[in-house]
Amino acid sequence: MDKIINADKYIGRFAPSPTGPVHFGTLLAAVGSYLQAKKNNGDWIIRMEDVDITRKVDGSDLEILHTLEAFGFEWQGEVLYQSKQTECYRYALEQLIEQSLVFPCICSRKQLVESGSGIYPGTCRTRSLQEKSDHALRLLAEDITIEFDDLVMGRRSQNMASQCGDFVIKRRDGLFAYQLAVVVDDQLQDITEVVRGADLLDSTPRQIYLQQLLGYSTPGYCHLPLAVDAAGNKISKSEGAARVDIKNRESLLRHVLDFLGQKPPADLCDADISEIWKWATEHWDIDLVSAANKIPLHT
Ligand SMILES: [Zn+2]
Repeated sequence: MDKIINADKYIGRFAPSPTGPVHFGTLLAAVGSYLQAKKNNGDWIIRMEDVDITRKVDGSDLEILHTLEAFGFEWQGEVLYQSKQTECYRYALEQLIEQSLVFPCICSRKQLVESGSGIYPGTCRTRSLQEKSDHALRLLAEDITIEFDDLVMGRRSQNMASQCGDFVIKRRDGLFAYQLAVVVDDQLQDITEVVRGADLLDSTPRQIYLQQLLGYSTPGYCHLPLAVDAAGNKISKSEGAARVDIKNRESLLRHVLDFLGQKPPADLCDADISEIWKWATEHWDIDLVSAANKIPLHT
């Protein structure tokens, strides 16, 4: 497609990690990003965030895609796998190295824990990239405040030096870090707005910082409230959340819409999945998504 024609087109994405089946929290992010793209007459694409191949569960990528299909999601183009993008990440890393913003870090996990505040104290900043040792690569966090307006969570700001610190962009095991990978992919895929769960709100300033250093455009951001269980804990795969049962897809979709503040009418209770999608696409309003449980940038 012609790049110029594409320039104003909304492109949203859903980017699950293939680390297990779809649970309610994953479904929430899928539905929110999908309806926001539909409402903006945009494309919705899928990216498998498998940059951390150590966490990947074999077959879960296909299971996720099958579940999405069963729910009636339709996406554009091929699914992009981060594990196949290494050359692109390496190129971005080179750009950062050329700006003298990258240094090797040999600190052990124990040392980092003992340093206290959770913000990297800059221990290895003077080390040379020429050193041949087992190390991660960190990006120097400059004294720059990153501000952005989140469509749901409102205005956010974070000083990179004092509130974030130098962060890892390539891990000690040789894998590229999520923060770098996601920024490169959002740029390569021309993503205009990122709609995802609020667990990634805290990552956003780092991603915008990287975009600025790499000369990329910054998409819009929209972080959806997180689903919590009865005890108030976030529902996530790592905590053994139950997979969604596609036999209950209609009630699950209505439940998601309800959670996202869309107030699906009672007469949708007997509707089939396509009728629910039709209603949801026509009535989707991002302003209704509750930001009541706005979470602070540092929790
Ligand atoms: Zn270090």
